[in-house]
Amino acid sequence: MSLRTETVVLGAGIVGVCVALHLQMKGRAAVLVDRRGVCEETSFGNAGLIQREAVYPYAFPRDLDAIVRYALNRTAEVHYHPLALPEIAPFLLQYWRHSDRERHAAIARRYAPLIERSLAEHEALARAAGAEGLLRRAGWLRLFRSPRERDLRLAEAERWRREFGVAYRALDSRALQAEEPYLAPVLAGALHWTEPASVADPQALALAYAQRFQQLGGRLVQGYAESLEMTGKGWRLASAAGPIEADAAVVALGPWADVVTRRLGYRLPLAVKRGYHMHYAAAGEARLNHVVLDGEVGYCLAPMARGVRLTTGAEFAPRDAPRTPVQLARAEPRARELFPLEPRLDPEPWLGARPCTPDMLPIIGPAPRHANLWFAFGHAHHGLTLAAVTGRLVAEMVAGEAPVVDPTPYRADRF
Ligand SMILES: Cc1cc2nc3c(=O)[nH]c(=O)nc-3n(C[C@H](O)[C@H](O)[C@H](O)COP(=O)(O)OP(=O)(O)OC[C@H]3O[C@@H](n4cnc5c(N)ncnc54)[C@H](O)[C@@H]3O)c2cc1C
Repeated sequence: MSLRTETVVLGAGIVGVCVALHLQMKGRAAVLVDRRGVCEETSFGNAGLIQREAVYPYAFPRDLDAIVRYALNRTAEVHYHPLALPEIAPFLLQYWRHSDRERHAAIARRYAPLIERSLAEHEALARAAGAEGLLRRAGWLRLFRSPRERDLRLAEAERWRREFGVAYRALDSRALQAEEPYLAPVLAGALHWTEPASVADPQALALAYAQRFQQLGGRLVQGYAESLEMTGKGWRLASAAGPIEADAAVVALGPWADVVTRRLGYRLPLAVKRGYHMHYAAAGEARLNHVVLDGEVGYCLAPMARGVRLTTGAEFAPRDAPRTPVQLARAEPRARELFPLEPRLDPEPWLGARPCTPDMLPIIGPAPRHANLWFAFGHAHHGLTLAAVTGRLVAEMVAGEAPVVDPTPYRADRF
């Protein structure tokens, strides 16, 4: 017996969950498939930020200082596997090209329509799922160790405000101390992005969305994306519940998107920026009121349900290469200078892989050469942020409705 549905969604990370929920909210039957459980991969371990301010996606640094520092491969912020360079170099070169000031500004203009709707769309889904309580509306803080960094970042924030209306507050060291009394009083202040929200358990939010999806009649099934094949009228996939037959399929496999796209003949320039996390109990009475980014060192501290989560910057390495959590080892003592952390809580560092494209824009829209196949991946540093608006956009395109934003910049055929 096969399982028939209108749309099969491959990948139950936060992006796939939001696509599936939006389809089901439109009354379009969907089956959500993953080889594991809901949000047990990349979407499990992020810093939990819904970055309403992030109108400029993270670019490759263009200043010589930073390039030399990264090339030496000793920072906490960026790490690479030297032996993997020949494999990664073509991606890095394209990424570097797209990061030039003018191109980056043009990319931001295409990215901003998604970012501007990111939080409102999560709030709508959270309401529908009865999970509003999981969204914290405190914004987040970029900490400054030096006046130079402070001046640079505040000037940048002012530009973003002028160009896109993004809100922020500049905090001097005294105002920062009032917001975060347990941070060591050694900082030159902070930039408070006031609009973003954060989630103390990103998987819990996804589980709430997935539960709503199932209440609306959606099915969650264990299945295997690599078995996807075309049939006369649509798509077929092997699953633990038997074969799934669907009119349409959505690929929301995050860093594993190539498992499907390569088999179908697409050569998309995908790569990953890997990242690690570790949890710590805060010592004594200490607590963090916001997610904080120590940008000059290159890590985040996020107050999470399990404890304080330290998340690391970008590691350029093949997705499946052995783990090398050197960035965590470099960041941890610097974090302890700022905030009183107890010993590590997790037996080993968690590893995730941000699914990236060289032009910093996600791939959302129709597959160029296959009917009734849709792509929704490549959300890089902002997959949690953009999941809800991506879900809405994809569901509207699948249903043939007017889309919430113009999807043209995100189409796969731009490559
Ligand atoms: C350290 C770190 C910090 C981050 N912080 C933030 C943040 O604060 N805010 C933010 O917005 N983003 C953040 N991100 C990025 C964000 O986590 C990702 O962009 C997002 O999780 C990607 O979601 P996804 O659904 O596309 O992929 P995933 O969550 O990886 O989901 C893909 C799914 O596909 C499934 N799958 C894979 N292969 C198969 C197969 N063969 N068959 C069936 N299923 C399969 C997997 O099991 C997985 O569930 C961070 C990332 C990292 C690593």
